[in-house]
Amino acid sequence: MPAPRQEKPSLSQAEKDRATAILARLEAAYPDARVELEFSNPFELLVATILAAQCTDRRVNQVTRTLFQKYRAPEDYLRVPLRELEEDIRPTGFFRNKAKAIQACCRKLVEEFGGQVPTELDALASLPGVGRKTASIVLGNAAGQQTIAVDTHVKRVSRRLGLTASNNPLRIERDLSELIPKDRWTRATNVLVFHGRYTCKARNPDCGRCPVADLCSSPDKKPGGSVTEGGSP
Ligand code: SF4
Repeated sequence: MPAPRQEKPSLSQAEKDRATAILARLEAAYPDARVELEFSNPFELLVATILAAQCTDRRVNQVTRTLFQKYRAPEDYLRVPLRELEEDIRPTGFFRNKAKAIQACCRKLVEEFGGQVPTELDALASLPGVGRKTASIVLGNAAGQQTIAVDTHVKRVSRRLGLTASNNPLRIERDLSELIPKDRWTRATNVLVFHGRYTCKARNPDCGRCPVADLCSSPDKKPGGSVTEGGSP
């Protein structure tokens, strides 16, 4: 006789309340949390996000301030030789791969999507050089959708705060989506990123200034990290 199927236990109200409390404090600590890449439409954020791989947002912004004057639509990136685009994005590093990815992405946008950035997550994630994380960032921050984008910061902070036990980005996304009301997904992503970038850093978390230290049981937590009031950076 086959073994009965194990149903995944639903989350307790206590777990959801805890996640809500953590996010409320992080939202208060980082009221300006947002994508730090500069853009004026979904296509620009798409290109900026591709350029941001292994590069700081500040450097990407320096490059895109002039890049976006020269290239306004996917067709513009296809009109220039690959070498020219490489030179235009060189300061962001890995410029050969990035130039190839941008042109391949733009080719598919033109050939299959009429030159428009698709607003459906799987379609956007299917573009060359664009994965689920990038697609979620673009739709969440430039297309008014609610998305959870699992980058290195979201992954680390979520694990340290016990919001997930997984290392797998898809699984982490699912765990967070069950804990957080959908109308707060994008905002939650941005505050988790800010917390990871400015306080709960990978190598040296600033637990003494952490607004959720009393809710953190991470082995990475440093002694003395118990600030609950005014702990914003
Ligand atoms: S107490 Fe430290 S390890 Fe825990 S969430 Fe805060 S900064 Fe991160």
